[in-house]
Amino acid sequence: MKPKKVAFKTLGCRLNQLETDSLVTDFHNAGYEIVEYGKPADVYIINTCTVTNQSDQKSKHSINYSVRSSGENALVVVTGCMVTSQKEYLENRDDITYVVDNPRKSSVLSLIDSHFKGEIVHPSALKQDLFNFSVVEKGFHTRSAIKIQDGCDNFCSYCIVPRVRGRAVSRPVKDILDNIRESLDIGKKEMVLTGVNISRYNHNGVTFKGLLEKILALSGDFRVRISSIEPDGFTEKFIELFENPKLCPHLHLCLQSGSDKVLLQMRRFYSIQQFLGIIEQFRSRFNRFNFTTDVIVGFPGETDEDFYKTCEVIRQVGFSHIHTFKYSERNGTRAARMDNKIPGRLKNERSEIVRQIAEEMKLTYRKSFIGDIQTVLTERRYKGITKGYGEHFIPVEIDNNSLERNSFYKVKVTDVLDDEERTILASPIFL
Ligand code: SF4
Repeated sequence: MKPKKVAFKTLGCRLNQLETDSLVTDFHNAGYEIVEYGKPADVYIINTCTVTNQSDQKSKHSINYSVRSSGENALVVVTGCMVTSQKEYLENRDDITYVVDNPRKSSVLSLIDSHFKGEIVHPSALKQDLFNFSVVEKGFHTRSAIKIQDGCDNFCSYCIVPRVRGRAVSRPVKDILDNIRESLDIGKKEMVLTGVNISRYNHNGVTFKGLLEKILALSGDFRVRISSIEPDGFTEKFIELFENPKLCPHLHLCLQSGSDKVLLQMRRFYSIQQFLGIIEQFRSRFNRFNFTTDVIVGFPGETDEDFYKTCEVIRQVGFSHIHTFKYSERNGTRAARMDNKIPGRLKNERSEIVRQIAEEMKLTYRKSFIGDIQTVLTERRYKGITKGYGEHFIPVEIDNNSLERNSFYKVKVTDVLDDEERTILASPIFL
């Protein structure tokens, strides 16, 4: 019998990407054929995001596209965060076969297998387990994202995540270490520690620092990258861990605003002075430690002065990359009930200004590597070059296409391209 074809579409954060990769592994190992999204398939799985209005629109667009592309008998499965924020809307659509919420997402394969055996199961009957995702073997990424935590208790006033991902839950230490060992056994070289609010990791008293120490103590030729993290728990002892060459000198540290007044209204729990203090602690120890960040412009009540403070702080830090978000009202959040909403035109202007500052800083930061050595994890070969990322999380193009994929190479940085990515050019060093 011809294998059933399944296509995946993922929106949103690294955690969603990881969960899709894990489902891809499940379906592949169960004998399904994974086809490119947009190609004819028997099953379409859309892993949605709802963090902004725009994410909702993109999720709906992907669902509509899947429905249009799907043949008469194809199944359309919608999962991810929009399932919680727009459950009724999705469940009332008769062109969607199954609507599966985040806690049951890891059981999607059993749902589809039952369907093809003629057993129609309601998704609510599926097992709930936030961490029951298979080790990623087959997926869309070279680096191995490792889920360590889910949910969040912070309730920042603009954020819908705690409502759609639930309260903070930490995965058992043993399961995380086993996951990493299994990933190493299948040849993975970089472990990206992923969750919703990983700085708040705590399982039976083992904190994020404690977990990191255990991971760094594992033997093997690999490196560890921390994905997005809140400026929380940065003690001297924690920062010291970055002396370990296995731990990548890069953090995506979420700033959101450069104004203490706005941070307070956002219910963020740090001041600008504290944030800059963390940056200073790293910079005084580690030359060119890479910081990237998230910034929200146009938060209710944000004045010109508040915005200028944001511009000052991002210049002062010299972030090498900034995800700029225009404030997007989310139902049920505190900020949605706030007055002094900022007009769209002004949000666009402010977002453009941050984007320009970010471009300047990216170029300056990347140029500072010319003449230096980077250790690149190769991801793909392409037209005579090999692409990958250095330990500082900068994209590098190596002028050699005979390098092994998914391998570490020492390279010498030769130049920075004037392209959108400001890609770094490098030559391999064969010792
Ligand atoms: S820390 Fe704040 S912004 Fe981040 S997921 Fe939690 S509530 Fe949302």
